[in-house]
Amino acid sequence: MKNSIKLFKQAQKYIPGGVNSPVRAFSSVGTTPFFIKRAQGQYLIDEDNNQYIDFVGSWGAQILGHSDKRIIKEINKKINSGITYGAPCKDEIMLARQITKIFPSIEKIRMVNSGTEATMSAIRLARGFTKKDKVIKFDGCYHGHGDSFLIKAGSGASTFGSPNSLGVTKANAKDTISLPYNNITKVEEAIKNNNVGCIIIEPIAGNMNFIRSQKIFIKKLRTLCDKNHIILIFDEVMTGLRVAKGGAQSLYKVRPDLTTLGKVLGGGLPVGAFGGRKDIMDNLAPLGGVYQAGTLSGNPLAMAAGLKTLEIISKPRYFKELSNKAKYFISEINRISKKYKINMSADSQGGMFGIYFTKKRVNNYNDILNTQEDRFVDFFQYMLKHGVFFAPSMFEAGFISSSHTKKDIDYTIKIYEKWVKNTSLSAD
Ligand SMILES: *Cc1c(COP(=O)(O)O)cnc(C)c1O
Repeated sequence: MKNSIKLFKQAQKYIPGGVNSPVRAFSSVGTTPFFIKRAQGQYLIDEDNNQYIDFVGSWGAQILGHSDKRIIKEINKKINSGITYGAPCKDEIMLARQITKIFPSIEKIRMVNSGTEATMSAIRLARGFTKKDKVIKFDGCYHGHGDSFLIKAGSGASTFGSPNSLGVTKANAKDTISLPYNNITKVEEAIKNNNVGCIIIEPIAGNMNFIRSQKIFIKKLRTLCDKNHIILIFDEVMTGLRVAKGGAQSLYKVRPDLTTLGKVLGGGLPVGAFGGRKDIMDNLAPLGGVYQAGTLSGNPLAMAAGLKTLEIISKPRYFKELSNKAKYFISEINRISKKYKINMSADSQGGMFGIYFTKKRVNNYNDILNTQEDRFVDFFQYMLKHGVFFAPSMFEAGFISSSHTKKDIDYTIKIYEKWVKNTSLSAD
């Protein structure tokens, strides 16, 4: 780690905390981060030439694995025609059309540059459309770093949230209500007592580890929204094009009014998007009174990388093979955990998975808070030492790419079994 340690010191001089996104600092796992020199397929190679099997994949974006030749070829081809236009181009239409085919709930879509932008814009649009200010979100869901989302549940009888970050105003927090995931009674109460304009949810949560919403919960959210003129937003920045081609909405068979996308959508370049019902989307400027814009939005290189990615993951059997790989992985984790009677479990959907430091079924943020963090840290460090990289926080999901081989998974399982046998924290 010699070179990475040196680089981290330099980075801290010029960049707050040495990183451009907090989780990269490894602060909750008791080590310093590695600096990446190169990424290839399922591997990350750091500045000390250590190689890691990567189960983070740029937080899910790299579904094909790193440096996929087909994507690079496409970007190389396009770059000769310009890097950014600030004016419309054909690929924007092509990508928009592809997305509307994959997601039937999306009739019109607008491209932005990140998931954060997508969710911020989506709630502005929902408020503008319903003329109602209050937003319901769920504890443990992450919707980027917009002010309206950095809100935690209020204390006591108050349903209003309180800021989760310095710099977010109380006035802002007053318009966001944060409720426990998978609890429909709380949603009913909040709707009765407030002028709610939209509900935003990760239909499968990937930012409090990997947690499924219950089918009945999602169906009831849809009914409640219909009855009360509330816009239902599925934040599928992580799950769209990842848990299934058509996202969580295709699995739950529930049609949101608006959807946000990101990560996989850009094939690794910075792209986010929000889209949905035509009658809502047409309230955006220049047609309507809801303002939203972006200098680099619809960037031609990003559109090309996104299009190529969609083409590849749309091939027959692509998702079946990816899912089977993840299923095999988690079934092995579960088998080993049972064999050694360690309090661990795992679950997956498509190319996304969760490893839990508990045997109990997890339903919400509190369930994850109550799992064993010291054991997670021990696990993380052991795996990393043996060349396997999982997300450096127990509140993150894991990702598998089409580059991972059975050999990679079997190696990872072998290391997992070694850890289970050796960890001093395994005395349940
Ligand atoms: C990653 C993520 C975001 C934020 O996307 P950025 O591109 O990091 O701004 C929003 N919502 C969900 C569900 C995410 O996973």
